[in-house]
Amino acid sequence: MKKLIIANWKMNPSTLREARRMFLALKAGVKSNKSEVVVCPPFVYLAAATEVFKSGKIRLGAQDCFWAENGPYTGEVSASMLKSIGVKYVILGHSEKRAMGENSETVGKKIKAVLKSNLTPVVCVGETAEQKQKGDAFAALEEQAETIFGGLSGQQIKNIVMAYEPVWAISTAANSRSCPPDEALTAILFLRKLLAKTAGPKAGQTLPVLYGGSVDESNADDYLRNEAVSGLLAGGVSLNVKKFLKISQSKV
Ligand code: PEP
Repeated sequence: MKKLIIANWKMNPSTLREARRMFLALKAGVKSNKSEVVVCPPFVYLAAATEVFKSGKIRLGAQDCFWAENGPYTGEVSASMLKSIGVKYVILGHSEKRAMGENSETVGKKIKAVLKSNLTPVVCVGETAEQKQKGDAFAALEEQAETIFGGLSGQQIKNIVMAYEPVWAISTAANSRSCPPDEALTAILFLRKLLAKTAGPKAGQTLPVLYGGSVDESNADDYLRNEAVSGLLAGGVSLNVKKFLKISQSKV
């Protein structure tokens, strides 16, 4: 199976001009990669990205969407709108969105909307530093996953990508607080067990489960090396095209 390497640009870069420069550099660098590369820029740059990526290997993703298709929801963007401009993946439940009020119930509603539009949701789950300190990491993962899965059929679950993103390890590359690869693996295997319980043993084994949290070009292979880790969700490092390309060209 090809590894899935997703770039989450968050609220960057500051101008369309810079975004276009990055799209072009990525397109030039992603030719015959062993991995599947997805780039998730801010909404406002998606249309420009579609133009650049239409002939290449890179797939386009969004960082969120709303659960309704259209209507009086000021500021929101629907899954069907994203589909109409060529988006394939949608990140949902990111901890930075959860910190702004998103919860597992709203994530569940958004997943349904994304699946209805035949897009792939990339569903983020992960424990906070406090939950980890109290020894509640697995309970937190289970609570998030079960609330999300509870509203979905086994068939729907088979079409999602999960991402284990320990909240305490996000955006910590500068102070070297990334999650040790063996800890990431243990959590991913736990998520696979939960997937197996709800969607069957095959789903537990084969559904993509990514790792995300301060991945960089020096630690990426340590996560990717294990078969149970289907790929990476890369934030900060993905803004450096050279480093992100290096990660996407991993040979492990
Ligand atoms: C993310 O935003 O999903 C993420 C993992 O960020 P970072 O790589 O910067 O920790």
